[in-house]
Amino acid sequence: MLTINNIFVGYGDTVVVQGLSMEVRGGELVSLVGANGAGKTTVLKTISGLVKAKSGECRFMGENISGLEPHEIVARGLIQVPEGRKLFPGMTVLENLELGAYSKEAKKDKKKNLEYVFSMLPDLMSKNRNLAGSLSGGQQQMLAIGRGLMSSPKLLVLDEPSIGLSPLLTKTMFDIIAKIKLQGVTLLLVEQNVNHALGMADRGYVIEQGRIVMNGPAKNLLHDEHLKKAYLGM
Ligand code: ATP
Repeated sequence: MLTINNIFVGYGDTVVVQGLSMEVRGGELVSLVGANGAGKTTVLKTISGLVKAKSGECRFMGENISGLEPHEIVARGLIQVPEGRKLFPGMTVLENLELGAYSKEAKKDKKKNLEYVFSMLPDLMSKNRNLAGSLSGGQQQMLAIGRGLMSSPKLLVLDEPSIGLSPLLTKTMFDIIAKIKLQGVTLLLVEQNVNHALGMADRGYVIEQGRIVMNGPAKNLLHDEHLKKAYLGM
């Protein structure tokens, strides 16, 4: 579904992603894990068209999307839920959700998607008239995911959904992600929470200083000695 071929990406003269390749197949949950500043968000911004790679390419559903604008990539069903929620705090929960359905494709499915989001995230239904800014951190993260689901994703990309959440809410969040996968949505999950992210993924990639240093079935990675030492404190 998504293939990233040897991308080099940077800001100004600094190259922060250095010859990175990875892929996500239809129906998979793939986790990209790594420490602070390793380049995870930069990879996601490149996939979404927010940052242009200096070289290399991203292909989605067989098509080169490297030169496309972000809205054209969204229209194809590659939807990103950004780190830090990026909600509109002065708008209601419902209005924020409806903003997820702005592309022509998603507009057609707005009613069906809204029912789906409320069935997956029932907390949002009871709060649909509340202002997004009045929600707790966990509810805001759920709203951000709900807004992503309103965009009719073929591939849903989640950037650090557990950031800032308590351990209990983190578990709830990962349970929701597992439920979304069961509905047939392909997922790319970017996380610093290595244990959780690999625990639920089919495959994983480990990024260090802009390069993939390890990849494979997620369960195998969790047993890797370097990974255990570097990321799990074992
Ligand atoms: P985090 O988990 O902290 O978000 P990350 O793995 O997502 O980290 P990136 O945000 O991709 O990492 O950052 C990779 C490197 O690129 C870092 O050294 C960061 O300082 C740098 N960087 C990120 N965004 C910019 C920018 N807009 N301009 C200049 N440098 C940037």
